[in-house]
Amino acid sequence: MKNITILGSTGSIGTSALKVIEAKKEEFNVLGISGYSNFELLKEQIEKFNPKYICIGDENKAKELESIYPEKIIYFGDEGLKTMGALDEADIVLTAISGAVGIEATVEAIKKEKRIALANKETMVAAGEYINKLLKDYPKAEIIPVDSEHSALFQSMQGSSKDEVKTLIITASGGTFRGKKLEELKDVTVEQALKHPNWSMGRKITIDSSTLVNKGLEVIEAHMLFNIDYDNIEVLVHPQSIIHSMVEFEDSSIIAQIGVPDMKLPIQYAFTYPKREASSELERLNLRKLKELTFDEVDSEVFKGVDLAFKAGRTGKTMPCVFNSANEVAVELFLKGKIKFLEIYEIIEKAMQQHEVKEIDSLEVIKDVDKETRKWVYSNYARD
Ligand code: NDP
Ligand code: MG
Repeated sequence: MKNITILGSTGSIGTSALKVIEAKKEEFNVLGISGYSNFELLKEQIEKFNPKYICIGDENKAKELESIYPEKIIYFGDEGLKTMGALDEADIVLTAISGAVGIEATVEAIKKEKRIALANKETMVAAGEYINKLLKDYPKAEIIPVDSEHSALFQSMQGSSKDEVKTLIITASGGTFRGKKLEELKDVTVEQALKHPNWSMGRKITIDSSTLVNKGLEVIEAHMLFNIDYDNIEVLVHPQSIIHSMVEFEDSSIIAQIGVPDMKLPIQYAFTYPKREASSELERLNLRKLKELTFDEVDSEVFKGVDLAFKAGRTGKTMPCVFNSANEVAVELFLKGKIKFLEIYEIIEKAMQQHEVKEIDSLEVIKDVDKETRKWVYSNYARD
């Protein structure tokens, strides 16, 4: 039996992970779950999966849970989340929180040398250099990617070594606004931006997909996870989302991972790796029903998310953290109706311009840069 802690169990990835686990009850046990604001769903999950440890955002809600479930161990807030990342009995920690708030729990899980099933890409972007140094100090800790593209790259590289890899080709659906021109994006609404053609996901990542900042985050995530130069990472628009990403090798062979767009597969693979297992939850791809697989360049005149990420990534050090933090606040402001869609790019670009790059010699540096960047964006763009 493998004990799994799910950080962010009430979200899109979290609920998919619980479905994966439910279909394999004989193999996986839910040790701990964390939600933030969705009290009702968290209670349902407690009833159904009977986890020993629970974490919620707010202290009062934690007290309420304690009175309903006196036998459970209940934590709250950021400190609670860190404790949840470090539970001794856990074999696997799935990081499915949205945003850089997931960094510290991931750090704790590494220090306890857990397997980390990493969905929370913001952690790898903001703190990748730090995390990679930490992984050297805790060699038994391992990060298995859950992000579909990185799971695809990871799967495609099984049995090969890094020096055989020529290019990582990350596929992009192109998002809700694929094919649109700048003029058409000036006044798009939150509802329009939240309609993703192929994937059903949380609100923040759905906006990130529509700006292609998500793809930018994924470029940096790929660099950090696989230690491949930015010159050897490419993004290709593939609207059908059937090829989840590919690796081109030195001998010209390209290996791709393909399947139906469903996060349950990369989640399960991160749990069962290096094994592959059947599950009633996993739908098979019917190749006969596929009409076409097409590929196109990113229109980077319109969708600046990828180029900005390459710039941040190549600058390195604290710049990817600024790219991520500025985007997180920009998306929050867009979702609240405080800024326009295209201002998301302006905010990221200007936040990067005003930042003085620093060496990352401790986690504090990242926390400070994250805080400063958020403050800078709020004070310049959070108008009433
Ligand atoms: P959701 O918004 O659906 O879920 C986020 C989860 O994090 C919820 O459980 C939420 O709790 C919790 N949460 C939010 N804010 C905080 C906070 N401040 N402290 C603690 N917990 C918090 O996001 P997704 O599931 O879509 O995405 C999760 C991560 O996975 C992201 O990093 C995303 O980029 C990545 N990812 C997602 C994919 C997808 O298909 N959804 C695909 C690839 C990567 P509550 O709801 O109770 O408030
Ligand atoms: Mg992805």
